[in-house]
Amino acid sequence: MRKLPRVLVVEDEPAIAELIAVNLRHNGFAPTVVFDGESAQREVDSVLPDVVLLDWMLPGESGVALAKRWRQQERMKTVPLIMLTARTEETDKVQGLDAGADDYVTKPFSTQELLARIRAVLRRRAPEVVNDAVQLGDLALDAATYRVTLQGQELKIGPTEFKLLHYLMKHPERVHTRGSLLDRIWGDHVFIEERTVDVHVKRLRESLGVAGAMIETVRGAGYRITAQPQALKAKNDPTPA
Ligand code: CA
Repeated sequence: MRKLPRVLVVEDEPAIAELIAVNLRHNGFAPTVVFDGESAQREVDSVLPDVVLLDWMLPGESGVALAKRWRQQERMKTVPLIMLTARTEETDKVQGLDAGADDYVTKPFSTQELLARIRAVLRRRAPEVVNDAVQLGDLALDAATYRVTLQGQELKIGPTEFKLLHYLMKHPERVHTRGSLLDRIWGDHVFIEERTVDVHVKRLRESLGVAGAMIETVRGAGYRITAQPQALKAKNDPTPA
């Protein structure tokens, strides 16, 4: 099983901390909440997080001071930090980034925005390794040679469809929302509409020919790739009329 990314949430307002934690849990992250800098330090000393959400205004040491201190620590030097703050002044933003924050989210923020920022810093830190090969059913994808084959026969596939297929094959049997696919495949291009995903899924299915049925539309949710598509199952096990 894949390890869930650990997110340390340093936020002294319990309602906000809880809201963030719930949303992170629902979106495949493992959050830990602490309310001040001292507990935050204890936490990172014992378990290194994959990303930290750090409130600016904390009791005792401020988020900015903590960020500065962490950037001096070997262990915390490269862990992505996102500052959370009610401040909107440009100078505050600069101060936060100068302190070593990777990004900055101003309260009130939407959950989707926060999740997108978290995914973006994680991606920048550890871009998905692209030189690997994946197999699902009769379908094989080799990222190193940029080849997709179905039962050994090479298929022609466009670059975006290739990336999309690669991502789906690495995370099979699981439903991906259009938003999460946009985030993973198109990265930080937040202005692309979700409909774009549908267009590329359609092209991808066409490129895959008979294996196109492996990419299923999950009504109201998104897409998934499966080794055993419902469409083919239905053909193989016809229900008696
Ligand atoms: Ca606060």
